[in-house]
Amino acid sequence: MSLPISFADIEAAAARLHGVAHRTPVLTSRTADQLTSAQLYFKCENLQRMGAFKFRGAYNALAQFSPQQRKAGAISFSSGNHAQAIALSARLLGMPALIVMPADAPPLKITATRGYGAEVILYDRYTQDREALGAQLAAERGMTLIPPYDHPHVMAGQGTAALELVRDVGGLDVLLVCVGGGGLISGCAVAAKHLSPGCRVIGVEPEAGNDVQQSLRRGEIVHIDVPKTIADGAQTQHAGNLTFAVIRALVDDVLTVSDAQLVRAMGFFMERMKLVVEPTGCLAAAAALEGAMPLRGLRVGVILSGGNIDAERYARLLLQGAA
Ligand SMILES: *Cc1c(COP(=O)(O)O)cnc(C)c1O
Repeated sequence: MSLPISFADIEAAAARLHGVAHRTPVLTSRTADQLTSAQLYFKCENLQRMGAFKFRGAYNALAQFSPQQRKAGAISFSSGNHAQAIALSARLLGMPALIVMPADAPPLKITATRGYGAEVILYDRYTQDREALGAQLAAERGMTLIPPYDHPHVMAGQGTAALELVRDVGGLDVLLVCVGGGGLISGCAVAAKHLSPGCRVIGVEPEAGNDVQQSLRRGEIVHIDVPKTIADGAQTQHAGNLTFAVIRALVDDVLTVSDAQLVRAMGFFMERMKLVVEPTGCLAAAAALEGAMPLRGLRVGVILSGGNIDAERYARLLLQGAA
């Protein structure tokens, strides 16, 4: 059975991203190693351009547009990091971008997306169907829709994070990756299993939104209601068809962590490592730091997926916890 993406696709993505995306640092912490009795390698995608790994997949997808697709540009409906990733990638490639966002999205995100030069159309999430609106706008303007995770070029782009990590630090026993729709973990699993064949790839979801954990156990995609969690980048209701095909073949297990554990991990990164990591970005690290699986003596890669959080929310979470 062949998977939707191969290691060669990830290497090709890495070549496209060379000199465009940051080769983000891999940091270590003696305190984290002592806490876990393991060697942890944190891949800092919170320090990626626009603040999250999503730039990798978006740029890899847009860079492969035909001249005709470039002329009309890219469209996306997302309120999160994918929107900003599409907007920035489109600007760098000199093409138009249109982002369909809910009118009640955080003003900071709307401003940031416009700041990257994208046109933003707001819709009412209670009365309007964004998929229908997006499809209509795409058809009217001839734009190409790039979804946030279920697309082979997006998945391959995200996999370059793990490719860089293993090339920088060598073989791993375990790779911990947060899971929303599964774009990041599917790309990373293909890269990690190729470069470090014995490596176990473990997904981490918020406790309230464990649809991929359920899906893996049942062998089919499980749909859930919008989960209530501070990990807003992982509030997806189900994996994609393409991402799940890879997850099923290559991901060894999926663990969950609570919102309180995410807040403790955020505090750890702020106080000990001087890193701002958004709640979703803490999923994989929280699993390690909170002992969600035994890691003693192992070499463990941990993807910190993003750092986009406004100061007010960041301060409030650190002061008051997830309540
Ligand atoms: C989108 C996102 C995720 C989830 O990624 P998927 O590819 O949907 O699994 C995790 N963390 C951050 C910061 C994100 O922006």
